[in-house]
Amino acid sequence: MPREPGRHRSTSGPGQPPAPARPQPAPASSHHASHARRSSPLRLVWIYPDLLSTYGDRGNLLVLERRARLRGLDVEPVLVNSDQPVPRQGDIYLMGGGEDLPQVLAARRLRQDGGLAAAAQGSVVFAVCAGYQLLGSEFGGEEGQPVPGLGILDIRSGRGERRGVGEILAEVDPALGVPRLSGFENHQGVTQIGPGARPLARVSVGVGNGDGTEGAYAGRVLGTYLHGPALVRNPGLADLLLSWAAGPLPPLDPAAEEWTTRLRDQRLAAVPG
Ligand code: GLN
Repeated sequence: MPREPGRHRSTSGPGQPPAPARPQPAPASSHHASHARRSSPLRLVWIYPDLLSTYGDRGNLLVLERRARLRGLDVEPVLVNSDQPVPRQGDIYLMGGGEDLPQVLAARRLRQDGGLAAAAQGSVVFAVCAGYQLLGSEFGGEEGQPVPGLGILDIRSGRGERRGVGEILAEVDPALGVPRLSGFENHQGVTQIGPGARPLARVSVGVGNGDGTEGAYAGRVLGTYLHGPALVRNPGLADLLLSWAAGPLPPLDPAAEEWTTRLRDQRLAAVPG
């Protein structure tokens, strides 16, 4: 697994005994105003980069890190491989996309571990595609067989007739105050949302859950079929997750948003919806 020593910490290295990461003391305040509401770093826990990271999912972590730091928040990224315990004291948990077999393996390990289900009681969870599906009660395995998920989000997935591949545009539930979503999807799974969750968005281009809706959320647990990675193209969604974890955020200086805005405009122009 690629690592950036000194920035991203894994809870243990290969061959070492698993050791849950400990919060680091907050460094002295920088030129950014420190965020009044936090005395400890915002812990961003990326779950299973070794199994669930087929679509540049690290980009979601990088975007959260950057947008938090630009608000003066101290951030501690924690990478948890599939042979390591999931720490329970994270603020935002991230899970990415994956192929069918790694997804089944990830679900099995996460069920045995129990850490994510425990953390989801109070923390923010953001999950993409395979990660999204495995938050639910079940999903379709490599032969389409039902595989038990984590039961954290009231969704149920199975295998659809055709893969949904391509650009996706979706209008977000107005209750969330996030601009339209732009992303790329590549999945066979279709997802039904139960009464305990709400659709994240309505699809205007693409497949999403397969019934005209896209993604789902309940409380501070949110899943989506969007890759891209989703938060790179959708900074409003990144800020929603950050605000769920850290409280209201000041807007960013437009100069800091230049590349984000360019990418987003370019993708939206390429996919007229
Ligand atoms: N294996 C799952 C599916 O095909 C998820 C794929 C993905 O994460 N892109 O539905």
